[in-house]
Amino acid sequence: MQQILIDSHKQNVLDIAERFPQDLEIYSKMMSVPAGLQTVINNRTTPNLFLWVSRPDGTIATQSTSLRQNSDTAAELLSLSGLRKPQVYRVNGRYLVLCSIPLSLRGDTIGKLYVAHDITHDQTMFMALIRSLSVATLLSILVLMLIISIYVRRSLQPLRQISQLAGTISADDLSQVRLQLERAPSEVKELAQAFNMTLSRLSAAWEQQQQLVSDVSHELRTPLTLVHGYLQSMLRRSVNLTEPQREALEVASSETKRTIRLLQDLLSLARADSGYLYCSLESFVLNDLVVEVVEMVEQFSNRAIAIEGTFPIKVRADHNFLKQVLINLIDNAVKYSASATPITLKLEQIAENVLIQVCDRGYGIPLQQQTRIFERFYRVDEARSTEGSGLGLAIVKTLVEGMGGSVTVRSKIGEGSIFTVTLPTNC
Ligand code: ADP
Repeated sequence: MQQILIDSHKQNVLDIAERFPQDLEIYSKMMSVPAGLQTVINNRTTPNLFLWVSRPDGTIATQSTSLRQNSDTAAELLSLSGLRKPQVYRVNGRYLVLCSIPLSLRGDTIGKLYVAHDITHDQTMFMALIRSLSVATLLSILVLMLIISIYVRRSLQPLRQISQLAGTISADDLSQVRLQLERAPSEVKELAQAFNMTLSRLSAAWEQQQQLVSDVSHELRTPLTLVHGYLQSMLRRSVNLTEPQREALEVASSETKRTIRLLQDLLSLARADSGYLYCSLESFVLNDLVVEVVEMVEQFSNRAIAIEGTFPIKVRADHNFLKQVLINLIDNAVKYSASATPITLKLEQIAENVLIQVCDRGYGIPLQQQTRIFERFYRVDEARSTEGSGLGLAIVKTLVEGMGGSVTVRSKIGEGSIFTVTLPTNC
């Protein structure tokens, strides 16, 4: 824009300079050369146009009235000499397009003609326009950036929701959790729909798998119980068995028993996963159940188990669940400690909670594995005990949490372990 403006002014100045000799020629026929020069200059002069002619020796032959009226600019302008192409000059704070051409009349050189056009007004207007445009552009960019950032933030909000959901979702809540996006861009809504469909498919697959585990465990448990019964009765009744035959039958019987237990555990977990493990909470005296379980385990394991805390404590729990929990924990204490070491069961009531601690002085559990032992099929060291499947503590956790409680472990290698079950009291 600035170039176009300057070019048009340059052309204007050049046109005036080029037509000047023709006008001079005409006027010089009617009057003397100096008078002709002055007349042509006066004809051309406007308040913004300065014209002057310098003689070959550099002195000023004549000048326009506009130049005389601007004496401050005139002094600097008149001191210019030499031939100049149309250019923009800054003279005394003004912008001028200046050019000069040699001036001759009928073949005689009379000097040089200088034409200067004051374009300060146009230039300052142009600069002001540039300034306002820059400010407007900057403001528009800022407003646009703000609008874009708000839009991007709003568009990303549903994605954040999806990633939060994907990060927290577990197998248990696959069937309940769905994304509800009302105010999201259509592309994100499509993504949410695809995500919901994936969840539905996963949920269906998970349910099928649970159903399969449950069905298989159930179908296998009955015939295996029968096989175990036959093996036991064969062992009891057959008196003429050779030693290797008896040993083989004993191994078969104990493996069948172990498999039945594993199937029972799998069935319990599958039921818990599919929500069919009904927990009926009731208030009862904990001490009675503890004594019953301890007597039962003592009978099977030939280990003495001490009970600390004889003051009757009432607990709100499912009787069968809690019995299973205690059996699993005491069974582990027996399995993972030497027969000469003591096993203690401590009962305590703290505020609204009942604490049941199963303490042993056994092998202990390494710190980094203490959080993993509640996972399904996780066993610390297969060599410690061949009995067991790694499901006992997973069942304990499921049952305790199903009753609204929690289970934790504190253990040190070589010193023993303390499993603490916390349950709500009678409320
Ligand atoms: P398992 O059928 O193997 O006993 P659990 O789920 O009951 O399965 O226990 C998981 C693992 O935790 C066990 O394999 C064992 O290594 C460790 N563990 C459980 N209880 C104790 C304990 N009282 N002392 C030492 N280790 C234990």
